[in-house]
Amino acid sequence: MPEEYDLIVIGGGPGGVAAARKAAAHGKRALVIENAGWGGTCANHGCIPTKALLTCSKHFADLKKLKRLGINVADPAVDFSAIKKHQQQAVKIAALGAHKTLADGQVETKFGTGEITSPREVQYKDAEGNIKTFSAANIIIAWGAKPQLLPQIRPSERILTSDDLLKLEKLPESIVIIGASVIGVEFATCYAELGVKVTLVELLDRILPYEDQDAAGLLRQELTRLGVSIHTAAKLENITDTGDSVVARVQAGSEQLEKIANYALLCTGRKPLLHEEELDKLKIEYTKAGIKVDKNMMTNVAGVYAVGDVTGGLMLAHRAALMGEIAAGHISGEDTISYNENFIPAVVYSHPQIARVGDIRESAEVQVRKSEYSANIIARMELVTNGFVKAFFRDGKIIGATIVGEEAAELIAPLTLAVCEEMTEKQLRAWIIAHPTLSEIFTGLFSG
Ligand code: FAD
Repeated sequence: MPEEYDLIVIGGGPGGVAAARKAAAHGKRALVIENAGWGGTCANHGCIPTKALLTCSKHFADLKKLKRLGINVADPAVDFSAIKKHQQQAVKIAALGAHKTLADGQVETKFGTGEITSPREVQYKDAEGNIKTFSAANIIIAWGAKPQLLPQIRPSERILTSDDLLKLEKLPESIVIIGASVIGVEFATCYAELGVKVTLVELLDRILPYEDQDAAGLLRQELTRLGVSIHTAAKLENITDTGDSVVARVQAGSEQLEKIANYALLCTGRKPLLHEEELDKLKIEYTKAGIKVDKNMMTNVAGVYAVGDVTGGLMLAHRAALMGEIAAGHISGEDTISYNENFIPAVVYSHPQIARVGDIRESAEVQVRKSEYSANIIARMELVTNGFVKAFFRDGKIIGATIVGEEAAELIAPLTLAVCEEMTEKQLRAWIIAHPTLSEIFTGLFSG
C-alpha cells in the first residue's frame, strides 16, 4: 500500500511552501517534493540573488553622493568575487530558510521529482533513480515558470537567460539586454551601477510598459544618467555569439543598429512550466498561459490544485504564496482569505524603485493626486529628491497608487492596505505620520 498523505505539493517555491505550511498548521499530513532548490526560483534564481546584487550596486553608486554630504571616500572599487559571495550567501540563507520553514511546520520534504500519475497518486523519483509511490487526498501543482525565449534566438555561452547571468563569476565590460520589462531593467540598473556598459533594447515604445508612464519616464532618465544606452521601439533581428563577444542586430525605426558586447541577456518574459504530457494524461485544463484554476485554486480535476507562476498571470513570489494559502485553506476547510489580483503590489527594484498597487489607469472618472519627493525634507537630506507618489481615487475611495523613488518598495505597503480596505479620502486625511520621515510624502496626497 502506498504511504498516505492529506496533501502532496510538487514544487518547493513560495507557492508550494506556503501551501504545505498552512495545511500542516491545520493538522494535515503534508509532503513537499522539490527537484532543484528549496525556495524555488525566488530563492535560487529570482528575487533573492538579484536583490543581493542590487544591494551591492546601490551602495557602490551611492558612494558618489557622499562627497556632497561631507564624506570623502578615496578610490572606491568593485570586488565582484566578494559581491558573488554575498549573492551566494543570500541564496543559501533563503533556501535553507524555506526548508527550515517546512521542517518547523511539521511538513515532510523529499528532494527529487514528483509526477502525478492519478488524481490521488504521486510517483517520487530521487536523485539515484529510486521510485516510490505515495497517495494523497489532495495534490497541489506548484511547478513555477521558465524563461520565455524569442523563437529565432538560442541561448549560448554568451547569449544568456537570467538564470545563466546569475552564475557569471566575472563582471563583463559590456552587456546588451533584450527586453526592458522588470527583470531587464533590474539587471540594467545593477550592471550599470557596477560600471558595466549596458545597452537596453525594447520592442515597445517605452520601458516598463506595465508601469505608470510618468514613473517609467523618470526611471528612463535615471538609467540614461547612469550611462545605460536605451533603444525603445527597437526590434531585435538576430544575435550572434562570435566566441568572444555577441553581435546584436536591431531595427530601430528606419535605422539598423549593430550592438557589440561581451554578453547578451535575454529578458523577453517568463512562461509557466507545464509538464504537458502529465497534464494531458490527467485531463487537467490548461493553455499556454497557464493551468486554469477556480477561486479556490482548484483545477477542473477535483482534489488537484495549482498555485503560483504555473497558473500564469502576475508572476510574483507573494502572489504565489497567497495562492498557496488559499488552496491550503480550501483543503483544510479554513478558507478565510480570498484572491483579488488588484490587491497584489508589484515592485521594480531599479534605483529608484517603482512600486504600484491596484488600478493605476487614468480616466475621466478617476482623480489623481500627486506628491513629489522634492517637497519632503528627508528626501532632501538624503539627496533622493527625484520621485513622486500618485494616488488614484474613484468616488472618494482610493483604488490604486504608484510610487517612483527611494524606498518605493517599502512605502507601497501602507498604500496597499489602504487600497485593500478601499479607504476613503476622509479616513486617509486622519492618518498620522511621524515627522520627519519619508512617509510624510503621503501627507501631500491627502491634505486639504
Ligand atoms: P517557483 O519559485 O518557480 O518554484 C517552483 C519549483 O518547483 C522549482 O524549484 C522547480 O524546480 C520545482 N519543480 C518543478 N517541477 C517539479 C517536479 N516535477 N518535481 C519536483 N519539483 C518540481 N518575484 C517577486 O515577487 N519579487 C521579485 O523581486 C522577483 N524577482 C525575480 C527576479 C528574477 C530574475 C526572476 C526570474 C523572478 C523573480 N520573481 C520575483 C518571480 C518569483 O521568483 C516567482 O514569481 C516565484 O518564485 C514563483 O513561485 P512558485 O512557487 O510559483 O514557483
